[in-house]
Amino acid sequence: MRVLVVEDEPKMAALLRRGLVEEGHAPDVTAQGEEVVWLVEAHDYDAIVLDVMLPGMTGFEACRRLRAAGIWTPVLMLTARDAVEDRVAGLDAGADDYLTKPFSLEELFARLRALGRRGDVERPTELVVGELRLDPASRRVWRGEKEVRLSPKEFALMETFMRRPGQVLSRLQLLEHAWDFAYENRSNVVDVYVRYLRQKLGSDVFETVRGAGYRLAA
Ligand code: CA
Repeated sequence: MRVLVVEDEPKMAALLRRGLVEEGHAPDVTAQGEEVVWLVEAHDYDAIVLDVMLPGMTGFEACRRLRAAGIWTPVLMLTARDAVEDRVAGLDAGADDYLTKPFSLEELFARLRALGRRGDVERPTELVVGELRLDPASRRVWRGEKEVRLSPKEFALMETFMRRPGQVLSRLQLLEHAWDFAYENRSNVVDVYVRYLRQKLGSDVFETVRGAGYRLAA
C-alpha cells in the first residue's frame, strides 16, 4: 500500500517509516498538516496515517479539508491521549479509524489493512440532497446558502429523511427512527412535524404520498 504518514515527531515518524517499509508498504512522510491535501492530490495513496497534534494545522483540520475537497482516501488518526473528545472530533472530521498513542505497530498494520480493503468510497460527513445539506456532527441544516434552525425533534426527523432520499417513508417508519420507544405511538405527531419542517424549509421539500407516507423531494 502507498501510505502517507503525517507526523511531526522525528522519532515517531522514523519508526513509522521503518515499520511500514518492513511490512512491504511504500510510505511518504511529512510533518505539515498544510501539505496533506496537495500531497494526496499529487499521489494516489491507499491510506493516510494522520497525527492530531501537528505544528500549524491540526490533524482534524487537515482531515476536514481532505473531505471538503472530495478526497475519500481512508484516514487513520493518531491521538496523543485516550481522550473521548479527540476521538469524536477525529471521526466527525471524516477520519475512518483512530489509534491512541502509544500503540503497537502490529495493530497499526492490521488497521491499515482493514482500511485498505474499504478503499476510497465516498463517505461524506455531511448529507446532501439537492439544495439541502445536513451536518449530523454540528446538528446544522441548510437550504442553499441559508441556514435553517431546527428543534432537536425536527432535526431527528429531517436526518431520517436525508438518509433515505427518494424513498417513501411511512409514518410508522418515521416514528421508529426519530422518536424513542417511550413515545406513545400516535401517528399524527409525524404529520405535525412534517408541517413544521415544510414551514421552515419550504413546502416543496416533502411530497405527500397518499396512503403511504412522505418522500423527501430530490
Ligand atoms: Ca505530533
